This record gives sequence, C-alpha cells and structure tokens, in this order.
Amino acid sequence: MTKNYSNMIDREDDGSIAILRIDLRDRSMNVLDPGVIDAIAVATGEAIADPAISGIVITSGKENGFLAGADLTVVSGWGDPAYALASVRAEVAKLGNTFRAIETCGKPVVAACNGLALGGGLELALACHYRVVTRHARYGLPEITLGLLPGAGGTQRVMRLIGIQAALPILMQGRTISGAEAVEAGLAHEAVDRGQVVNAALAALRENRVKALAAWDEKGFRLPGGDAYAPANANALTVASTLSHVASKGNNTAPLAILRCIHDGSRLPFDKAQQVEQKYFVDLLRKPAARNIVRTMFITKQSADKLKRRPEGPPKHIMSRMGVLGTGIMGSGIAEVSAAAGIDVVLVDRSADIAEASKTRIAKGLDRQVAQGRLTQERRDAILSRIHVGAGIEAFAGCELVIEAILEDIKVKQDAIRNVEAVLGEDAIFATNTSALPIDELATASIRPQNFIGLHYFSPVPKMALVEVISGKATSEQTLARSLDYLAQTKKTPVVVNDGYGFYTTRCVDAYLREGIHLLLDGFDPILIEKAGEALGMPVGPLCLSDEVGNDTAHHISHFFENRESGPVGADRARSNAILDRLIADGRTGRKGGKGFYTYAEDGSKAIDRAFLSQLTDFKRQDLEVARERMLFAQLVETARCWDSGVIEDAAEADLAACLGWAFPTHLGGPMAVIEQMGSAHFAERCRELVAQAGARFTLPESFARARPGARYYRDAA
Ligand code: NAD
Repeated sequence: MTKNYSNMIDREDDGSIAILRIDLRDRSMNVLDPGVIDAIAVATGEAIADPAISGIVITSGKENGFLAGADLTVVSGWGDPAYALASVRAEVAKLGNTFRAIETCGKPVVAACNGLALGGGLELALACHYRVVTRHARYGLPEITLGLLPGAGGTQRVMRLIGIQAALPILMQGRTISGAEAVEAGLAHEAVDRGQVVNAALAALRENRVKALAAWDEKGFRLPGGDAYAPANANALTVASTLSHVASKGNNTAPLAILRCIHDGSRLPFDKAQQVEQKYFVDLLRKPAARNIVRTMFITKQSADKLKRRPEGPPKHIMSRMGVLGTGIMGSGIAEVSAAAGIDVVLVDRSADIAEASKTRIAKGLDRQVAQGRLTQERRDAILSRIHVGAGIEAFAGCELVIEAILEDIKVKQDAIRNVEAVLGEDAIFATNTSALPIDELATASIRPQNFIGLHYFSPVPKMALVEVISGKATSEQTLARSLDYLAQTKKTPVVVNDGYGFYTTRCVDAYLREGIHLLLDGFDPILIEKAGEALGMPVGPLCLSDEVGNDTAHHISHFFENRESGPVGADRARSNAILDRLIADGRTGRKGGKGFYTYAEDGSKAIDRAFLSQLTDFKRQDLEVARERMLFAQLVETARCWDSGVIEDAAEADLAACLGWAFPTHLGGPMAVIEQMGSAHFAERCRELVAQAGARFTLPESFARARPGARYYRDAA
C-alpha cells in the first residue's frame, strides 16, 4: 500500500524495507525547501519508528533525477536582511538535523540516486549509509559557484569520506562528476544503469552489506589522510586559499569559508563540525554577494530560460529548417548550435567555397570534442548531416528563419535583407546579428518589417549562453514569440531589449573599454589599469579586452556611436577615439594583428607595449581604487542611459545580460543591482563628482540625476 506524505513523498514497503520516493508533484525535478524537508523528516521518522521496518531506501519518483538541490528562491529569501537571522539559523539547522537524524537512526539507510543529485540533493545521499548512483548521471556540490557552501553537512561528510586533499577539488571547484567517477572517488558505493538503482539498493540491504553507522560515528574514527594540521593537508589548504584568492581577486568569500569549514571541522566531532559549517553557511547567505549571484545567475536566468518575455498568443513553434548568411566566426557558431538542436541549417556566404570552409571548421571543432570524449561520433555525424552548403541565396527557399552574420555595414546588410526576403515565404523571419546597427534602420529595407528582429549572439557562440533579442518598432508578437522559441530550442538564454544604437550590451562594453583609454590618457599606469579592471571582478582589463575584441572593431563601433551621441555625453568620445585612430593607423588591431595595447609573441605570450604607450601616458598615477571605481561607474552610467532611453526596462534581465554578455562581476549582481544597492542619491552624487574629476561622460540622464532617494528599479522591490 502506498502512503503519501504532503503530496511530496510516497512510501511503499517491500517486505521489511521501506522505499521512500521523493516526488514533488508540481515540479519536473525534485528540490529541497522547508516543506520537503519536513516531509522527509516525517516519512523517515515513521519508517525509523516502525518496528516492522529493518531498512530504508530513499529514492526519487522522477525518471531521471534524484534531487537537484535546494530551492534557490527560498535560499535567496533567507539571505534577505528582512528575514530574521534567528529564523534563517533555525531553517538551516533543521535541514542539517534532519539529515543527521537519518544518519544516526540505527537502521541502515540507502540512497538510490536515479539520476542527478546536486547540492543539498547530494548532501542527503551523503547522509545515508550507502549510495547507489546512476553510472552516467551527474553528481556534485556546485554551491561555491553561487557564492555559497554546502551547508547541510556536505563539507564535513566529503572530507570524512575521502580525506582533505581529495575533498578540495570537489568542494572548491563546484564541478560535477559522473556516477562512475563518484564511486571511483569514494563518494558512492555502486554505480549501475538507470532504472537499476532501487533493485541494487534493496540487494545491498538484503545481503546485509550496509552498516547502520557512519564511519565517523564509530569509536576511534580517524580522518583519512589526517586533519588540517597534517603537513600535506596544511600545504594543500594554503595553496587552495592562495589560488582561490588570486582567482576571485578577493571578491568571492565562499572559498575561504569552505576552507575554514575544512580546517576547523577536521578537528571536531561531527555534530560540532556541522554547527561550524552552518555558521559559515549563514554568514555567506547574509552577504550581498551570494544573494546577488543567486538572484541574477539562477532566479533571473531560470525565468529568462522559461521565456518570461514570450508573448502568450502565438502557439509554440518548433523550428525545422533555417539559413545562415555569412559563415565567419559568428555564422559558423550559430549554424553549429542550431544543427545540434535538430534544425537543418543552410549555409550561404559570398561563395560556396567559403561556406564549405565554414562547415569544415565546424567539423574540426566537433572532432576535437569527440577526441576529448565530450561528444559521441554518432552525434557529431548527426549534427554535420544537418548542415547544408548552399550555392547562393536561392538555397534559403523554404527556410523558416534566416540569420545574417555578414559585414557590419548598413548598406551591405540592407542589400542582403532585400535579396534574402525575396526568396523567403510570408511567415519566414529575418534576423540580424548586428552588434550595433539599429534594428529599425535596417528594417527600412525589409518588405516584411513585422518579421524582422535582432538576435545578437556573443562569441564564441557555442559557449556563450546569452542572446540579446532586439525587438524593433514593427516586430510582431509572432516574430518575437517564434524567435524566443527558437532560442529555447537551441538552449540559449534570451534577454529582450528595445532598439537603439548599440542596444544595451555593446554600449556598456564600449564604455568599459573607453574608460581604460581615458585612464591611460590621465596618466595611469597601464598595468595598474588592467589590475584595477580585474580587481573589480571583470575577467580581463579593458586594454586586454580591446585587443581581444579587435581594436578595429572597437574603433568602428566607437566612431559609429560618436555620430549618434550629442551634448556632454559625446564630448569625451573624441578624446578616446583619437587613441583608437592612432592604434589603427599603426596597424595595432590587437591580438589578431600581433600588436595593440600589448605586443604578442609567436608563443602566445604578451606584454604591455610600454614603448608605444609612453607616447600616451607618463605612467605616474598609481591609484588602483580610483581606476577601479571609474571603470565600474562607466558601466553603471551607460546602463542608466539605456534605462532612461527605454532600451532596457527590466532591471533583473538587464543585470543577467550584463553578467552573461560582457562578464559583469556576478557578485555585484549587475549594474542595476549596484545602482539600487548603492542608493540613487549616492549614485547621483558620485557621478557629479566624477564629471568634475574625470569628464562629462559621467553625466547622468535627468531621470537618474534627480531620482528620488531610495529609488528602486527591480520589479520585485518593495
Ligand atoms: P566574419 O568576418 O568572421 O564573417 C563574416 C562573413 O560574412 C564572412 O564569411 C564573409 O565572407 C561573409 N560576408 C560578408 N559580406 C557578405 C555578403 N554580402 N553576403 C554573404 N556573405 C558575406 O565576421 P563575424 O565576426 O562573424 O561578424 C559577423 C556579424 O556579426 C557582424 O555584423 C558583427 O558585428 C556581428 N557580431 C560579431 C561578434 C564577434 O564577436 N565577432 C559578436 C556579435 C555580433
């Protein structure tokens, strides 16, 4: 007979063994929230108390997943300063205590992980006495990537199972491993095929292979490899601490907190160690960094992936045939991800040979993945079989969508629009991957402007999740809906913005790059400028980024923007453009040309070109904090302008686009989060000062300069 707990857990006894199946009815995947934790406590409590039951199996009712981890919406709520700290501590303790009660219940408990177990899901499995996992499913503790740590005993159990040194990569990198690897690492006992986990768990119990006591609860337990003071462990902890600090420039405190849990916990009995872990977990939860990361990179991303901005009217559409015009860096990437999503893709360039070369490049990339074991040969062949080289534009006949990724020139693009639309059907969508040209201006060449849209991808396309979707004035709901359906089909994260020169992301990247040039011109040492960019949390400094993007591209975009801007905002641009002009005149296109702000050696190494830059700066100014703040504010002010002109209108989505698109530091949440958390009055005041100290480009639009104190931009804001 099946018993149901809170509509979340089913219990069916197999003889003297209780099988508990976690199955959240309203979710496609199980997650942990206080209700689920209560249900687990009640269900396991009853089975433990039942004298007819001698062993327990915990599994999931979902076909391909055990437990995806904590419900991050709930976790994010716990981080809100409005949520009483004592209540947060109680919730966190309840989770840990529930798992600990399972571990110390006196009856053998087996986790039968039928698929993925992450974060709190894996922590539940770790609290069971025996773990059966699915060979090919993924397991891991990714909390660190969210600015958090595993707070339900994860740091303590992993270290006690496999020792400090083996635990470090699992806890500090947040990477997932396969079930087979989990067994090899000593985190699980058996890896079997999907569908076999419960049988394997029952067999382990019936054959008395499961001891109802964790190793660390046995008398005389010693941590494998010794505690944190064992010389090799002390060494490994010091190295891990240094590496994590260097990697995050001190912006992510989670690595240090995990190291403290290991250090302190390694010398304590389990229950005390768990309290230490809970304390560090709550500390992290209440820091803005974790809240910002979880809100932007998880909650907002999830809602964007679920197509929050999709108009409801048009029915869901699955794309089956499309075209890509221009098969260079971007076109090849777009073709690859589309073919990987099951879409037939027609490639057209200026000649069939160029398109063929693109297909060969895609094949080589896929071959590399096969060699690395990341792709099967069958899948590689299937992807390539969907990519068709077309001799000319006529090959697009019958395509439901054509994306152009040709030269960034309005006339060339408008010609292409006319030619391509002539062979497309009435319903077909024409999308442009322009980085900066206004959609409405391009659409003047279109005979069906309602079917015209901007899909701005990021390079490299297969790796970058974001696509900035630009809806023009005439873009219809059907075009927007179908474009979003297509992006979901190809597993991209869409953020919808309105039209304007450079849209949102290109304008903000330009602002960051240009501030690097202004700092140079103001006498800052280029090495310090680069370090200040990294200290802010950007992956690379502005001069390096400009070289990587290509100074010719930066030059082209900045001159294009110069013609669009007016008033004080544009006044400073001529100053930075003059430097870009000099770079281009000197052939300094960046890495691709062998020289830019840096010089590049044949072995791939690079060095700041001090001889060239000495013509621009005297290297005297060394104030890292000033440089860091100016580069942050350059991005904030540009974001404020995009908001003021209606290019962006959803703060959460704009922040997601910033973090995914130009790697704005996730611990800050995004530019709108920074402005809101800084306070509108302080933001306006500091910008006024920066105008006086550094230049007119820090002038805020009126709506921000005169914003009421405490103005909020997030929709969920009170
Ligand atoms: P690319 O130079 O690598 O490729 C352009 C391709 O278009 C070439 O194969 C070229 O032969 C072809 N082409 C040019 N004119 C054509 C025409 N009239 N008809 C058919 N084919 C033509 O350029 P890319 O970096 O892939 O950029 C393409 C577009 O994507 C540009 O609009 C660019 O602004 C935009 N974009 C680039 C990036 C990036 O990081 N590279 C990012 C976002 C958007």
